[in-house]
Amino acid sequence: MINFHILGAGGAVPTPTHCPAAYWIGVDKQQLLLDPGPGALVRLVKSGRAPLGVDEISIVLFTHYHPDHCADLIALLFASHSPVCINKEPLRLFGPMGLKALLGKFRDIYGTWLDPRNRSLEVTEWSDGQVLDLPGGGSVTPFRVNHPQDRLCDYALGYRFCDASGTVAVFSGDTGPCAELNQAARSADLLVVECSTPDDLATDGHLHPSAVGALCADSLPRQVVLTHQYPAAAATDLVAEVGKYYEGPVSQAHDGSSYLVDKAD
Ligand SMILES: [Zn+2]
Repeated sequence: MINFHILGAGGAVPTPTHCPAAYWIGVDKQQLLLDPGPGALVRLVKSGRAPLGVDEISIVLFTHYHPDHCADLIALLFASHSPVCINKEPLRLFGPMGLKALLGKFRDIYGTWLDPRNRSLEVTEWSDGQVLDLPGGGSVTPFRVNHPQDRLCDYALGYRFCDASGTVAVFSGDTGPCAELNQAARSADLLVVECSTPDDLATDGHLHPSAVGALCADSLPRQVVLTHQYPAAAATDLVAEVGKYYEGPVSQAHDGSSYLVDKAD
């Protein structure tokens, strides 16, 4: 069973219904925080899905290091420095190359204030072909996507989640059209895909409805959810726009949307 809860369905510019990236994903019994953008921690705790608050977080995945996808890493680490947090399990961070350098720059500013007090910090920069095996038989597999980057890393990632019964959910991250995403999304039970703008505002390194439609028509996911909507996209009927190119079920996410997929059903 995969439960994909959207804490932030927007891009870098928050609106009341579409805040920056943040996703809380249950793969069987393992919870994962994906892309903790600004306000992610607050929205996670307010959602009621993390009764232990920060102590509930044990694995954090990053697609890339633009601030709308990772700014709350500082908030998470600073909260973990508090004696209030008592979880003694390691806090495990996974991201593309540059994660260790990013943490080093934070340390240059904050010293030891971001060191978790009661738990170790395990940092993994994904290498090609690496898979994270989850307790209970699930897994997380990263794949490279097409998104302009910063000085820390020259690529961004999408993620493919698989549960013990073979249910597959794919997250595009930020990306323009790319073959790697088409391949990862092929026949997925759930595709959560960015749709940053309407077609008339299309920008490099991002997707828009006709590009999402072409992706879906090629990959044939069983269910499609549109996310990472900047204000103009959030104000557009993206379902109708994507529907011009793809006949399958499509939803337009807002903050708080949840999608449950389970092949065992
Ligand atoms: Zn980005």
